[in-house]
Amino acid sequence: MTDEQLIARIEEIKQSNPDNLMARHFDADDYLALDAPLQERLRKIIASGVQNENSSMGAYAMAPDDYDQFAPLLDAMIRDFHGIPADRPIAQPHDWNVGAVACDLGAIDPALKEVSMRVRVARNVASFPLPGAMSQQQRVAFEEVAAAAFAKLAENPDFGGQYLSITPGSPYEIDADEYNRRVAAHQMFKDMSNDKYLNVAGISGDWPYGRGMYVSEAEDFLVWVGEEDHLRIMSMKAGGNLNELFARLQDGLEILSALLPAFAMSDKYGAIASCPSNLGAGMRSSLHMKLPRLTKGGTDLTRVTTEAKSLGLAVRGAGGEHSDAGSDGLVDVSPSARLGVSEMQIMQRLYDGAAALWAMETAG
Ligand code: ADP
Ligand code: MG
Repeated sequence: MTDEQLIARIEEIKQSNPDNLMARHFDADDYLALDAPLQERLRKIIASGVQNENSSMGAYAMAPDDYDQFAPLLDAMIRDFHGIPADRPIAQPHDWNVGAVACDLGAIDPALKEVSMRVRVARNVASFPLPGAMSQQQRVAFEEVAAAAFAKLAENPDFGGQYLSITPGSPYEIDADEYNRRVAAHQMFKDMSNDKYLNVAGISGDWPYGRGMYVSEAEDFLVWVGEEDHLRIMSMKAGGNLNELFARLQDGLEILSALLPAFAMSDKYGAIASCPSNLGAGMRSSLHMKLPRLTKGGTDLTRVTTEAKSLGLAVRGAGGEHSDAGSDGLVDVSPSARLGVSEMQIMQRLYDGAAALWAMETAG
């Protein structure tokens, strides 16, 4: 594609898909002012959004310093996605004081005592390229670094568990049946090789090499290796107490961090992630809520998506991003902003948003 073709294509997407944030904020003059090597880098970063016009973000970083290097475009997208106004600097506060406010969903309604809760953070190690730019050898080398950390973590009485790999020939390799079972249980990530967004970005390359997950004995602390970020570290359980869920992640994150090489972190952007939507706290915290009335029995996400948006929440199907709702109206709701908000604020937003959605679902 020549520069003219690229610019024309993005202009076209801007009209046909106004929600593609890359197209919305792409500035042709800024692009043309870059030297050839930088243009080449930027083309790779935006390739997924150029090829997939229905992308909601439309860009993936290939290296931690892409965010500084291409700040004119990426900052505009970041402000838009995370709701940071132009007169406020982009900055990441961290506040893990998650015991400070009670966020027990059971206090909203006893019916919410047993919802499935999940909170994950994205983390990338500074010494490896981001997943979109990794070779197969680097993916496997990173998995070995992670597996060594998990071998130590396994000795911890609170976080003991096992590492399961899908890398062919790995000493931790599991078979297809176990992999499928773990995916169905929402523990393991889906086959990425069919994901058109990740394919174009190179993030799903060399599948399934370098991929796996750590799971604690109680199956409430999990770590993904080699998905969209080097690591997705999460706590997951059925219950209503968000404070406990977040505290479990906080503890595990602290212990695991000490066993791994340094993460790529920035004062401005917080935790560096492949997708600009996952910067900052890097945190997506979600509830699987049954909202049959708001979703017309799971057939129509329009209303719930609009209501949730005004509460700062995003809605996904129960099978994760790009999936449909369950027939019982089961959906995934989570606070959209991850940058410029602290961990504690994210927990609070999820709690407040869930209460508001539940009030609408159960009204009259
Ligand atoms: P993320 O990008 O935050 O890792 P995805 O949308 O890709 O999340 O979903 C990953 C997996 O996690 C999917 O199997 C999804 O169903 C599952 N999941 C997300 N939230 C919950 C939840 N609250 N309870 C159970 N499973 C969940
Ligand atoms: Mg995902």
